[in-house]
Amino acid sequence: MAHKVDGYRAVVISLKAGLVDGRYVPSGDLSDAQMDALADLSDRYSFGELRGTYQQNLVFADVQTNELYELWQQLAELHLARANINTLTDMIVCPGWDYCSLANATTHNIAEQIEKQFDDLDYLYDLGDIRLNMSGCMNACAHHHTGDIGILGVDKKGEHWYQISLGGNSSNDAKLGKILGKAVPADDVASTLQTILDVYLDIRGTNEQDVEGFGDVIDRVGIAPFKEKVYG
Ligand code: SF4
Repeated sequence: MAHKVDGYRAVVISLKAGLVDGRYVPSGDLSDAQMDALADLSDRYSFGELRGTYQQNLVFADVQTNELYELWQQLAELHLARANINTLTDMIVCPGWDYCSLANATTHNIAEQIEKQFDDLDYLYDLGDIRLNMSGCMNACAHHHTGDIGILGVDKKGEHWYQISLGGNSSNDAKLGKILGKAVPADDVASTLQTILDVYLDIRGTNEQDVEGFGDVIDRVGIAPFKEKVYG
């Protein structure tokens, strides 16, 4: 990211490693060894300063541009150099049923399902910036209401289902997403997202300079075309 001072950059470190050697790493998690290594790297490259972000990532706030490549190499060795910031897999995911006594549904199994379905970076870059937030109950710790795509886990007679909302925004133009329709079963979440994203790619406006973002498409056409494809 740009920096106020020439010769410096802010470095955002994704804590959404996704699948490492085929094994899902829970979004937002770090091991003790990674924490120790990051503390050392922040001393070496960022004046000992390391910040946590709203999106469950980390920031080295002041890195010299001539040290960026060296830092990237060391982050890559720690499996902390995934270039998916602001893409669909840069999800905010609450702990859900696995760790939270208030939860109605699991979340990280759904995040793993999404990681497996959307593991192609070229595809993610083509989609552009999309915020996906997932909460395991209506307490909404992941702020699912304000994601471009929000997922809320709900309990239906002891089974975990997932309600999807579209069009939320947590920036200066803040707004709540609209619920797409009835909740979908756990096994269908990623395929439902695929349907939604197919509609977006189909109807977004493009020209040589610009591509219409996901939120802008929802603002323009509403949720009806998405609803029709998902439930029609
Ligand atoms: S949203 Fe619900 S399940 Fe998730 S951390 Fe908050 S209270 Fe727990």
